Amino acid sequence: ARQAGGDTLVHYSEEINAQAGARLALEARLRHAVERHELELHYQPQQSLADGNLVGFEALVRWRRDGQLVPPDQFIALAEESGLIVELGNWVLEEACRQLHAWQAMGVAPMVAVNISPRQFAAPGFLPHIEALLATSGVNPAQLELEITESVVMEDAEGAIALLRRLRELGLTLAIDDFGTGYSSLAYLSRFPIHKLKIDQSFVRNMQGVAEQAAIVQATIGLGHSLGLTVIAEGVETEAQRALLSGWQCDQIQGYHYSRPLPALAASRFLHASDQR
Ligand code: C2E
Ligand code: CA
Ligand code: CA
Ligand code: CA
Repeated sequence: ARQAGGDTLVHYSEEINAQAGARLALEARLRHAVERHELELHYQPQQSLADGNLVGFEALVRWRRDGQLVPPDQFIALAEESGLIVELGNWVLEEACRQLHAWQAMGVAPMVAVNISPRQFAAPGFLPHIEALLATSGVNPAQLELEITESVVMEDAEGAIALLRRLRELGLTLAIDDFGTGYSSLAYLSRFPIHKLKIDQSFVRNMQGVAEQAAIVQATIGLGHSLGLTVIAEGVETEAQRALLSGWQCDQIQGYHYSRPLPALAASRFLHASDQR
């Protein structure tokens, strides 16, 4: 192994070491991000297609690091793999409830949706944390929405469904995120005690031009409605997309067409401006 190709091998393992080192360094920084108050939530407005009103916001986490705003794609997977997601996810829930309560105190009552990662959902402390949060934060549980993905049923479907039932009994609103991209089957969908389906933006992006994608979106809206669910389409960027979805009786949209995700203060302004209309 030390002959031909030996150099390549050494070089390769050095590269792996460098990658592992960078990963560990990032993990160490992320570990302190919560306590150093480096995380913040941005809020993306969601719009009702029936009347054009604001219905709520999705809370999306960002990491303010050395003056830069780092998007979740660059740290959520690492947080999941390292287990840090539990602490990070708890902070996100607490911060979203704090904001929701502040909005309620101002006399406005939007929904606030929070992303729950599969590992966070499966952690033993998840339900007790939610219960404690509802008891202390003073928020109306119906206005707090939890977004989970289909993958939560992969390990333990019965356990996941039982937990969803408990969350629903607490009065929370439950949504399936990224619908259509995951593993789960339609059989599970009918057993999920949920309120809302979020059609993934990958379907919305190709709706025009690709007839099959348009058919999938229309069928998903019909499926959601026949199960008694609210249907929201994500990643709506253009008026043409909005008009198509509206024509297909989709209930709500979220995407750059209505608004980008906004820092908390701008979200409050957006909320008050839409209240005046
Ligand atoms: P997601 O839950 O599917 O969130 C929607 C993503 O699409 C957001 O990216 C949002 O900024 C982006 N988006 C919204 N409208 C449009 C549009 O019209 N066009 C396009 N191209 N994109 C749009 P973001 O904020 O970078 O978040 C990425 C993902 O990170 C989220 O995907 C979610 O899976 C995860 N994430 C974000 N915040 C949290 C969190 O607090 N906890 C957990 N576990 N995951 C989070
Ligand atoms: Ca989401
Ligand atoms: Ca999504
Ligand atoms: Ca997504």
